[in-house]
Amino acid sequence: MSYQAEYIWIDGTEPSPLIRSKTRIVADGKEPGIWGFDGSSTNQAVGHDSDCVLQPVFVCPDPLRRPGDKLVMCEVLLTDMTPHATNTRAACAAVAEKYADQEPWFGIEQEYTFLQGDGRPMGWPENGYPAPQGPYYCGVGGDKMPGRDIVERHTVACIDAGLAIEGTNAEVMMGQWEFQIGILPPPVIGDHLWVARWLLSRISEDYGVYASLDAKPMAGDWNGAGAHTNFSTKAMREEGGWEAIIAGCEAIGTKVDEHIAAYGVGIEKRLTGAHETAHFTKFSYGTSDRGASIRIPWAVARDKKGWLEDRRPNANMDPYTVAGLVTDTVCSAAAGA
Ligand code: ADP
Ligand code: MN
Ligand code: MN
Ligand code: MN
Repeated sequence: MSYQAEYIWIDGTEPSPLIRSKTRIVADGKEPGIWGFDGSSTNQAVGHDSDCVLQPVFVCPDPLRRPGDKLVMCEVLLTDMTPHATNTRAACAAVAEKYADQEPWFGIEQEYTFLQGDGRPMGWPENGYPAPQGPYYCGVGGDKMPGRDIVERHTVACIDAGLAIEGTNAEVMMGQWEFQIGILPPPVIGDHLWVARWLLSRISEDYGVYASLDAKPMAGDWNGAGAHTNFSTKAMREEGGWEAIIAGCEAIGTKVDEHIAAYGVGIEKRLTGAHETAHFTKFSYGTSDRGASIRIPWAVARDKKGWLEDRRPNANMDPYTVAGLVTDTVCSAAAGA
C-alpha cells in the first residue's frame, strides 16, 4: 500500500509569503524524498526557468488523512541545490548551528483572526460592530465564542501530528484566537509553527472561513494580532540567569530598526502604543509590563532566571527569520563577538 505525503513550503509572494502544498503518493516503506514544483506560479521563478526543488526537512504524521499519511515541511532550493532566495530556514539553521552551545530555545504565541469571505471577522454582525472588547479574551459562554469548533479540531490535529502545541486561548478581539508552540530550538520552532499554520488553514477550509495572520485586521479600537516570541539560552535558564536575560534585552535594544524590519509586514499599524503594545519606534523592557517591547514575566523576575518575551513580532512574521535574528543578536553579544 502507498501513503499520501503532503509537501509543504513557503512561497515568494510579497509582501507576506503564502504557504503552499501538494500531494505525492509514496510507496510504503519509502521516505518522502526530494521533489519539485513550478516556481513561476508561486513568485519563485520566471517561466522560462521555472523548476524549484523541494527538500524535505521535517516529517510528521498527517492527522487529517489516513494512518501512515505524512506532512512534509520543505526547504526550497534552486536546481543547483543551493537555497532559494525565499528560503529563510537555511539561514536560521546556520545561526542555530553557530550558537548551538548556548542552547537557544523558543516558545511562540501565534495569534490569528477568523475572517469571512467579505473580510468581516467570524461572529461579527453584518452591519455595525460587536460589543466592545472586554469579554472575549479567554471568554466562554453566552453566544458561543465564534470559531471554537475550528480551534478544538486544530488543537487535536497538532497533538496527533506530534507538534509541540502548548495551549490555546480566545483573544481580546471577537473572532481572534491564539495557540502556543514550544519550547523548541531553532530552526525546529519554525518547522512546528509553519506546519501548525498549514493545519489551521486547511481545517478552516471546512468551515468556510480563513485564518488570517494579518497584524491589524480591523482598524480602530480593536487589538491587532501578534506572535509574542519567548526566548531563552542555557545561561538565562540557569541559577542566576537574570544577568544573561538583561544582557539579552540590552543586546536586542541595540538593533531596534533591524528587528522591527524583520518582525512582519504592517508592524507600524499594530505597534501603535495602544492595545498592549509599545510604539514601534520606542524600545523598552520591564517586568510584567505588557506595554513594553520586551516583557520579563513576573515568575522570571522572582526566580531571577528563565526567559524574555519579545512582544513585538507580528502574527504574520516568519518564525525562521525571527528565531534566526533573535538568536544571532543575543548569542553573538553573549559570545563577545
Ligand atoms: P502570556 O500570554 O502570558 O504571554 P503564554 O502562556 O501564552 O503566556 O506563553 C508563554 C510562552 O513562553 C510559551 O510559548 C512557552 O513556551 C514560553 N516559554 C516558557 N518558558 C520558556 C523558556 N525557558 N524559554 C523560551 N520560551 C519559554
Ligand atoms: Mn499568550
Ligand atoms: Mn495573546
Ligand atoms: Mn505573551
